[in-house]
Amino acid sequence: MSDVTITEFAEVLKVPVDRLLVQLDEAGIDVSGAGDTITDDAKLELLTHLRRSHGRKDPAATAPRKITLNRKSQSEIRLGGGQGRSRTVSVEIRRKRTYVKRDVLEERARQQQEELDSQREAETERLKAEQEAAEEQKRRAETEASEAEVRQQAEEETQRQAVEEEARRQAEEHRRLDEVAVKERVEQEEQKQAEQGRKPVEIPTVDHTLHVAKGASARRRKRRPRRRPVQVSVDSQHGFERPTEPVVREIEISETTTVTDLAQRMAIKSSEVIKVLMNMGMMVTINQVIDQDTAVLIVEELGHTALPQLETGLEDQLLQSIEEAATDVDASSRSPVVTVMGHVDHGKTSLLDYIRQTRVAAGEAGGITQHIGAYHVTTKKGTVTFLDTPGHAAFTAMRARGAQATDIVILVVAADDGVMPQTVEAIEHAKAAHVPLVVAVNKIDLEDSEPDRVRNELTQHEVVPEDWGGETLVVNVSAKTGDGIDDLLDAVLLQAEVLDLKAVASGPAAGVVLEASLERGRGAVATVLVNRGTLKLGDTLLAGQEFGRIRAMFDETGAPVDSAGPSIPVAVLGLSGTPMAGDDMLVVADERKAREVARFRQGKERDVKLAQQQSAKLDDVFSQMSEKGAASVQLLVKADVQGSSEALRDAVENISTDEVKVTVISRGVGAITESDIQLAAASKASVIGFNVRADSAAREAITETGVDVRYYSIVYEAIDDVKAAVTGLLAPEIREQILGLAEVQEIFRSPKFGNIAGCIVSDGYVRSAKPIRVLRDSVVIYEGELESLRRFKDDVSEVRAGTECGIGVKNYNDVKVGDQIECYERTEIARSL
Ligand code: GDP
Ligand code: MG
Repeated sequence: MSDVTITEFAEVLKVPVDRLLVQLDEAGIDVSGAGDTITDDAKLELLTHLRRSHGRKDPAATAPRKITLNRKSQSEIRLGGGQGRSRTVSVEIRRKRTYVKRDVLEERARQQQEELDSQREAETERLKAEQEAAEEQKRRAETEASEAEVRQQAEEETQRQAVEEEARRQAEEHRRLDEVAVKERVEQEEQKQAEQGRKPVEIPTVDHTLHVAKGASARRRKRRPRRRPVQVSVDSQHGFERPTEPVVREIEISETTTVTDLAQRMAIKSSEVIKVLMNMGMMVTINQVIDQDTAVLIVEELGHTALPQLETGLEDQLLQSIEEAATDVDASSRSPVVTVMGHVDHGKTSLLDYIRQTRVAAGEAGGITQHIGAYHVTTKKGTVTFLDTPGHAAFTAMRARGAQATDIVILVVAADDGVMPQTVEAIEHAKAAHVPLVVAVNKIDLEDSEPDRVRNELTQHEVVPEDWGGETLVVNVSAKTGDGIDDLLDAVLLQAEVLDLKAVASGPAAGVVLEASLERGRGAVATVLVNRGTLKLGDTLLAGQEFGRIRAMFDETGAPVDSAGPSIPVAVLGLSGTPMAGDDMLVVADERKAREVARFRQGKERDVKLAQQQSAKLDDVFSQMSEKGAASVQLLVKADVQGSSEALRDAVENISTDEVKVTVISRGVGAITESDIQLAAASKASVIGFNVRADSAAREAITETGVDVRYYSIVYEAIDDVKAAVTGLLAPEIREQILGLAEVQEIFRSPKFGNIAGCIVSDGYVRSAKPIRVLRDSVVIYEGELESLRRFKDDVSEVRAGTECGIGVKNYNDVKVGDQIECYERTEIARSL
């Protein structure tokens, strides 16, 4: 298991096999082909290689060989003039410093040295020849020793010495400058050089000319027309201006970055990045998240090299697979995790309830079992864990999120009803997930039950009972009397034995989130099912986009526990928020890392959501249509009364054309609830609220999911909007904006105004001039305007959130405590294409 083939490994990493092979080759790992196995050591080696090599493309080739820095400083000198007047002279000092790479210099020094050497050699040779000649001469005319010749010889000797002395001095100078240069390098240049393992050498060519500033102010020019240059000696201390040659940086760009972050990486101001984006036609703020492609464009526009990071995922996954392999030792058998599925009313809930009530040991907390989304029961033959959310929808939703928590599906079929459409669906879902079935033929206590008919019908769907020569265990049960329940548990355990379920019980835990909620006083409570390892109190957990240290853990009976092994569900407290059902959870050694990954996932999720939001908006239907050729509009309709919801459904469904199909996926009466929003989000539907509003949980869900919710109070407006979306005829848009909400806390009787509602503004603001609606349980009960808006005894025009006020509703005296008064505004926006 720890050794996988390269093909498999590439699949895990989600990179093409070819690429992986090339990477392996570069890392110096010897493999002969995609069929080879790869060891953990090799994976680690690959990781180290990828990290080391990541994005570095021979920087030596691009680095400048020489950098020249110019600095201009301006100052003024006051000179005492005649008659006690002083005059100011502007002085501009320009200095230039050139940095040359050490190897360039070394090369130059070597050349010089060679020249000198050959010069010297020639010199010595000449001298020798001359000496010989002179000796000859001397020998020939011993007495004719010439004074001039001796002088010439001496002269030549001095010359040679001077040349040598100069060479020595130069070498010395280079050495000294080496030391100075290292200290004085510009920081980033130093870094770059340090990466290349070279030290820079500086040749200061200080230009001691003094320039009189040309840019002196007009004022000064007028007063002092004569200026004269002054000789000033300059010390070599100075700061830096912009390098004359631009520094080309290599900028690593992750999948999403913010403007600020990108600017920081390029060591420039955010405003410069914004400027570039504006030139590209994008208006952004400094905190805006920009995608990788845009970031690459910006980086290249600014003359740097962009290195899009495509391999962060690779690194993460690699780490994870190593982690997984590390704990992959001595797996022991674990108990099966079971989901109950079946047609509606066949007894899924009854079966789960019966098992829980009779088999789950009551906890210390008053013997009340807690609903944590799962529970486990212990029998003489072993333990079975039940996932408490019946129905294939939940099962498939989890699967859609990549979690396969279920080992075995119990398919409940009522013996008096037989195989029904949802039974067939459940069979299909289980088959798709490769999860074996155990069939519970329920309600055998009923007189008209026909368990054999059920078996017969099952065979038509390729579910053949064992006693009929097939592989599926079928047990007759009654969730009412409890008959056969033990046999059912036995059958499940038997099936589990066949599956040979194993998990490592030691080491850090990993598993899946079954459900999560926010609870008053407890914070985020998540039910997690451990797949392997042991979850312990105090562990740092990463669950989907959330993380945190486990503060407390409880089992299904509400009893606190310290640890949970494989196949055991527990409720954990301490996460930063509520993860989603089906999210993976993992114990991470350090919290910082957990936080980082959680943040990264949140960022990704945000982007995905943005994309989803765009596709689900009613406004976009037409554009979608032109893109895809056809489109469908999904709607979820909620109304104040049954009649309106039906009328709306019929009306909007009739709008369907050949190109666009309008479907009402769900319709109901009453406030828009959280589950409405979730359903809409899952089906990419828009929500129409007719005289009803979203309740507070739903409002939260709306911000979270970005579901398009529209409120209407006139049927024709709702229909017109849908029609406009479908036909693409963009009618002028009437936007209704809810300005604020006030909660009615008390009712006073006022002789002048009738009933006055003592309110507190809970959201936004209430304005006396704007129309209002009275809501009761999120349903509109009255629409009209304000008679009066007062703070204490004074009439006011506006009351803001958090403030109390008295509201009198015109022509309406039936406001009650607990009602809400909604203040809104209507604006008409002419639409344009
Ligand atoms: P679900 O929709 O599959 O969750 O089905 P329920 O558990 O809600 O059960 C539907 C109805 O069938 C309820 O009225 C139960 O009381 C009844 N029911 C469930 N199991 C049995 C059983 O074994 N025998 C009898 N007689 N009725 C049952
Ligand atoms: Mg049920």
